[in-house]
Amino acid sequence: MPLKISVNKARCIASEDCVETAPAVFQLDADGKSEVVNPAGAPDATILAAARGCPVKAITVVNEETGEQLFPPPKK
Ligand code: SF4
Repeated sequence: MPLKISVNKARCIASEDCVETAPAVFQLDADGKSEVVNPAGAPDATILAAARGCPVKAITVVNEETGEQLFPPPKK
């Protein structure tokens, strides 16, 4: 599914976990913060694993078609 991925750069601590998990999707920018270079660069499950693995929960993943927030899980 098409995913909308965003990184909260103010929160990112440049641990590079997301880059290691999905290097075609996330890369560090010139300031050493993660940015999305290709939202379709890895299977959905890998992208969600990268978001879950971020130690400071800086990555948000939304289903672009439905608008459903996949990670972090929306508060009920
Ligand atoms: S895993 Fe999180 S803190 Fe680490 S580089 Fe990626 S966005 Fe930044």
